[in-house]
Amino acid sequence: MRLRRHGDHWLLIGGPVPPGSAAITLGSVVCVRRGYVDDPRLLRHEEEHVRQWRELGKVEFLRQYLGAYLRWRRHGFGHQAAYRLIPLEVEAEAAAERFAADPGGGGDQPLI
Ligand SMILES: [Zn+2]
Repeated sequence: MRLRRHGDHWLLIGGPVPPGSAAITLGSVVCVRRGYVDDPRLLRHEEEHVRQWRELGKVEFLRQYLGAYLRWRRHGFGHQAAYRLIPLEVEAEAAAERFAADPGGGGDQPLI
């Protein structure tokens, strides 16, 4: 594992990542699999989670994130579908999409 400063947060390269995922963000630490550390779209997605953690705080982030996931699961959605419907994930994906569409563009978030 390697810890690298990346703008206003940290990359823990080769750090613990759930099965089937390329990365996970916990507070200001982005754990990313080695093979994905040079994927700017993925990193932009995770940077949005860093921003969400800061804005909401850990308790509120986890309440919103897990609450939405469990709500969709109770409604009968499978893991992947429930995950994709979490509003915080939708927001992170939107940020990644905006970045992918215009990697050098300004947008409302500085590119680090
Ligand atoms: Zn995400």
